[in-house]
Amino acid sequence: MFWTKVACDGCDKRVRESRAVFHRGSYFCSAECRDRWAQANPPLCAKGEPDLLRRRLVETIDAAFGELAVVRGENRDAMVDAVGSLIPLLGKINAQHAAQDKVDAMARFQGYAYECIPLLNALGYHEQVAAFDSLKPSTGFGGVIHALERARGRAVG
Ligand SMILES: [Zn+2]
Repeated sequence: MFWTKVACDGCDKRVRESRAVFHRGSYFCSAECRDRWAQANPPLCAKGEPDLLRRRLVETIDAAFGELAVVRGENRDAMVDAVGSLIPLLGKINAQHAAQDKVDAMARFQGYAYECIPLLNALGYHEQVAAFDSLKPSTGFGGVIHALERARGRAVG
């Protein structure tokens, strides 16, 4: 039987992926190893007045969601699409540009999303930070998007 093994980021021990503890983009052989590592690598924490931090958080989240709208195609230029559909070749080129735009927008979304982490930590929004801690490449950003929506609600409410 073949098992996918990963190296523990705390002690380098090889562990089965399904049994490893996942935290902040790293695998660990045990909760103890994770806690030791987390203590040695404290999460980034923004400094400043809570009001200012909340305002920066809302701005960063809005910027992230703006990029997400591009990823989801909500900001697509309808005129370009209409022209593109009349000329098949142009349509194909536009589709390629649109695909690349979405990739770029996704990268920018991730950048803004990660910029929120020090702000969330500073404001004590631990539930929302947890969504980032458990983020795996294979699971996608659904949990993080939901957490950012919640964090925005907390910051303005
Ligand atoms: Zn370990």
